Amino acid sequence: MSLLARANARKLLRECCITKPEHIDLEKIAAYKNLFIEEGDIRSHTARIHKSDNCGIIKISSKLKDKGQRNFVIAHEIGHFINERNKNFTSCTASDLLGINSKKEFEKDANAFASELLMKDEWVWEFTAKRIPGADLIKDMCEYFNTSLLSAAIRYAEIGKYPSAVILSKNKKVVWSVLNKDFRFKWLPPGTPVNGNSYCYDYFNEGIMDKNVNKILADAWFLQDKFYRRNFYLNEQNIYLTNYNAVLTILWED
Ligand SMILES: [Zn+2]
Repeated sequence: MSLLARANARKLLRECCITKPEHIDLEKIAAYKNLFIEEGDIRSHTARIHKSDNCGIIKISSKLKDKGQRNFVIAHEIGHFINERNKNFTSCTASDLLGINSKKEFEKDANAFASELLMKDEWVWEFTAKRIPGADLIKDMCEYFNTSLLSAAIRYAEIGKYPSAVILSKNKKVVWSVLNKDFRFKWLPPGTPVNGNSYCYDYFNEGIMDKNVNKILADAWFLQDKFYRRNFYLNEQNIYLTNYNAVLTILWED
């Protein structure tokens, strides 16, 4: 249903006459839908929404300090309101909001909605068209689209014109990966051990985070991929995510 969720986000942008990302004010968009936003302690969850057919209350954790992350979470909750007409209550954990592996379809849909609302595809293509992938581009996307680092990274890997991959790793294992449809390699499932030849591994092994762009053999990530080729090099750059004690890896070809 993610396509419908994305269509819902685009419809909302049209209703609110929003044609540029800088026009987005989520508090106003929420108010337009009779949604009230409050902050507070919600224990183990990051956000939740109580709703009826025509109105609702979004509550987000007061522990959310990052402005972009907070924005993505609010957009996600608006997504629950619009995507799911028959539910009165949804409670979202950090992992529901973190990435793409949730087994709950409605959480994937809320993330798809938020991603489209904040980073409509045309805006992303225009902003990234003349730039190569890497940590600087993802951080600039966060700033420009006022969204979370992970959502920007996923969005770029999904629709960026430059074939790339983003990988989230924790405890020496891949949590999820998003590979652009034109990226040469196609297979990096959750649970894959982080290879000792990657620069990402250095963080888990030695606590050292090399922030530079490094050339690396594809063996370090895609030895099991059926499109694997010997002596094929990729660019690798890593960002350490303090909040998650995890590493975000960006890979791309020359
Ligand atoms: Zn949710």
